[in-house]
This record gives sequence, C-alpha cells and structure tokens, in this order.
Amino acid sequence: MSSSSDDHLPSTSLFRAFAKKGTVERAVLLDCFLASGILEDDPRGGALFKAIRKAGEEIDAESFQMLQNVSPALFEQVLTGQLAIPRFSEFRQEVELIFERVSHNHDGQLANYIPQLERVDPDKLAASVCSVDGQRFSLGDSEDFFCVQSCSKPITYCLALEDQGEEVLHQYVGTEPSGKTFNELTLNAKGLPHNPMINAGAIMCGALIKRGADASDRFDYVMSKWKECAGNMKIGFDNAVYLSERQTADRNFALAYFMREKKAYPPDVNLLDILEFYFQCCSIETTTKAMAVIAATLANGGNCPLTGAQVFRPDHVKNCLSLMSSCGMYDFSGEFAFRIGIPAKSGVSGAIMLVVPNVAGLAVWSPRLDELGNSVRGVDFCRQLASRFKFHTFDSTTGLTDDRLDPRRNLYESRLSGINAFCWAAAEGDVAEMRRLVARGINPDVGDYDGRTALHLAACEGRVAAVRYLIELGVNLNSVDRWGNTPLDDASREAQSKDSHKPIIAMLSEHGAKQKNTVRSASN
Ligand code: GLN
Repeated sequence: MSSSSDDHLPSTSLFRAFAKKGTVERAVLLDCFLASGILEDDPRGGALFKAIRKAGEEIDAESFQMLQNVSPALFEQVLTGQLAIPRFSEFRQEVELIFERVSHNHDGQLANYIPQLERVDPDKLAASVCSVDGQRFSLGDSEDFFCVQSCSKPITYCLALEDQGEEVLHQYVGTEPSGKTFNELTLNAKGLPHNPMINAGAIMCGALIKRGADASDRFDYVMSKWKECAGNMKIGFDNAVYLSERQTADRNFALAYFMREKKAYPPDVNLLDILEFYFQCCSIETTTKAMAVIAATLANGGNCPLTGAQVFRPDHVKNCLSLMSSCGMYDFSGEFAFRIGIPAKSGVSGAIMLVVPNVAGLAVWSPRLDELGNSVRGVDFCRQLASRFKFHTFDSTTGLTDDRLDPRRNLYESRLSGINAFCWAAAEGDVAEMRRLVARGINPDVGDYDGRTALHLAACEGRVAAVRYLIELGVNLNSVDRWGNTPLDDASREAQSKDSHKPIIAMLSEHGAKQKNTVRSASN
C-alpha cells in the first residue's frame, strides 16, 4: 500500500532508474527537485543545483553520493517526500485550476484615490505559493512589482512588537476589529486605534519602531526586515506612490491629529515623521513571488523557509496572525474569517497576503477592488482555495467529514490514520473514542488493508459495548475479511475458549449476523 502512495512522489522515477540501470539521468534528478517545488533560485539549493548541472548526463551512485553531501538535509527531504506539501505537483495543478477560473472575473474598480493606482493595468493577475519548507510556484504576472499598501501593516506590527514587546505596544493600540473602513475617523473607548491592521493602528505601530532613530535609519531598517522576510528577494520602493500618498493624505493627517488630541501617543512623537513613515511603508514594492515567501515566514512562526533566518519571534507572529484573522480584510474581516478562515491581509493595490499556519504562505495580486477595498479576484481566489482545501483554521474540527483536500498530508495517511484509530478503539472497547471519531467523519464500515472492520475487532476481543454501539450505528454485520471471516466467525472462534464472547454471539445473531458458510451460500 505504501508503494502506491509513494508513486506520487517525484523521487519514485529516480529510485526506479537506479534499481534498473544503476545510474540516473541528470534531468530526472533535477526534475525531482523542481517537481517538489524546490526551485533553482532557492538560496538553500544554490551550490547543489550548480553541482547537479556540472555532473554528467548520467549520474552514478558515487556522484550521487557526492551531490547528496552538498545539501544532505534538502536531499533527504526531497527524496523521502518529507516536505510540508508532499504531493506538490497535484497541489499546484489544483491551484492552477482555481487561478484559471478566477482570471475570467472582471468585476470591480481600480483604486482611484491616487493617480498611480488608477494607472495600473487592471487585468494584471498573479499568485504565488511558498510552503513552510520553501516549496514554491508562481502563476501569471508574478514578477511584476506592485506597492504593498495595507499589506505592510502585519509587518509594521511585528516590527513594533519586536521593539516594544506585547505588553507595552498594546498600551498604545487595541486588538479589536473596528467594524469600520480602514481609514474611518474613529478610535476605541480609550482613545486608541482599534487594532494595528487599520490606518490609525499602523500609524501608531510605526511610531513605536526604533523611536528616536533618524527617519532614514528607520526606513532602512524596515526595508532590511522586509528583505529578510522575503528570503533576500528584491524589495522595492515606489517613490511616485509615496509622494502621491503624502499629497492626498488628509484623512491620515486627520487620524494622526485625532490620536494626538486623545493623547494616544508616547511622548515626543513627531506627527509628520510618523505619517511619512506610514506612507513609506505603504509604498514598499514587491512581487507576489516575494510576498508569498514573506507570508510563508509568518506561516513558519517567523522563520524564513528559504534562509532559515528567524526574522520575528514566534509569539509575535502568533499575535500578528490572530489580528490578521480578525481584522485583516477591512470590514469584510468577519465574513472572511467565517467563510474562508485563513489569516489574511489585503491592500488597496489589489494584493492579498494569506497565511496558512504551518503549511504555506500565499500571495495574490489583481488590482480591481470591490466596494470594501479588497481585490475582487483575490477574494474569489481565497474563496475557491478554501472550498477545495482544508485550510480554514477550524477545519481541524471537521476531520474527514468532507472530501476537500488536505495537501499537507499524504492521501492514504490521512484516510488510514482515521480508520486505524477507529479499529484500535473498537478492539479496546473504547466506545467514547469511537463516538468521537464517528463525529469527525470516520466511516465505521471501512476495514483495514486486510478487510478487518471495527466490528471484527470488537467481536474478536469480546468488547460487548463496542459491538452494541456498532450495531446501533447500523454497520454491515456480515463484512468478510481477507480470510473470508465475518465478525460472527471471530466471536464464535473465541467463544470456544472464553465465555465473555457468548453475549456477543447472541447480540450479533439476533441482528442477523451470519457465519462465513452461510454468508457464502447466501451470496452464491
Ligand atoms: N495608503 C492608503 C491609505 O493609507 C491605503 C492603505 C490600504 O491599503 N488600505 O489610506
């Protein structure tokens, strides 16, 4: 059984080639990495890919060993399929289908509060994925730069947390969704910004990063952190957007003054400085390719999957993801958390950054927005993603009850672990555990590889309560295992030496269970 699931690993053809002719083609080895999502520009694989390219067309065992020694950890992960998304090509194909469907959606309008955003090609569409093991792919215009706008807010918040710590920082900014638009002129009952994911909160967080340092040093610091999160990919800055933001900033000025009037700031804050810093953060430029790595760094507890750099503390990332979940999508946040359930942050440039904790980071960019300021195709992409994959934060409670995919697990592994657990619980007579597994969607009729069902095991082990529960559930009483035995056969065999099985025989017979000879003759 395990060999059939391994068939889907990119390394299978490599092992077959070795077994057959003692060598493997270089192309097969390269493909093994690429199909796993480990790309040639991966900082972990630089020396390895160079060495593979240098190796001959056919790689023998000795050169294979040499190559393995260049990057032993990466080699092992790829060859054994021990990556966050084991069947990466299949995952990619599913996402490609979603991307294609979304591309036909032409609804929405470009942001028009600054000319720079109004001039963007509205048909642009890009999506990128990076798993927490650095498996990547990108679709569409994924090399195009766009300004991050409000997608800067989670990073600004993490930086402020690193600087001030949770306790101090949250004396200046709340953690509640505002239920209002991102730039609404409103503060909470304490006169503080509702949360760090809306303008007032981001302006406040910016004020708390490297207080007292020069504006230029503060900006350099932020840029270097963005780059670090993105595994050292290029991060840009759009000066025209920055100038435009500054010119049309009445609302943000109003917010900043409102906070000053409420005495919300720490002492010695220069209002113009902190606003400029905020506009600069909105004007940082990136690609979906880099943004997916940034999202993956958050998905990986602040550790960049491509470089291993610990950019943020895991507890700070946890705080950030909590706020992205509740406040990341403007006043669509509640609906998004309910329907899609993936921590996300959107920006008015049409970008959405998605974080599936411990699995992957994703970025989508499409400039046309809905009336709330979220990318229309971006939200559509997220919806479809959540209806195809078990990525909702609370999908963990639904277990196997639906047939959406869980790319983090091998198909057989997830199916079998449930069946195994159910059979074990039946064999132990643990009815409470059986009930829990049924509630999570386990089919109580499914047997293991040998066709041994929970009822076989419960009958065989003399578990009266478990047998009663399975009868109540209405399971098939006459399923046969690979040796042709029914549960009643098992109970009868054991009853020859143990009295404890007699009530089980009575119960099964009363409900129509048969022994194998009768089952066979009935079906003949
Ligand atoms: N830069 C814009 C502002 O501050 C928009 C930020 C956003 O993406 N919502 O108003």
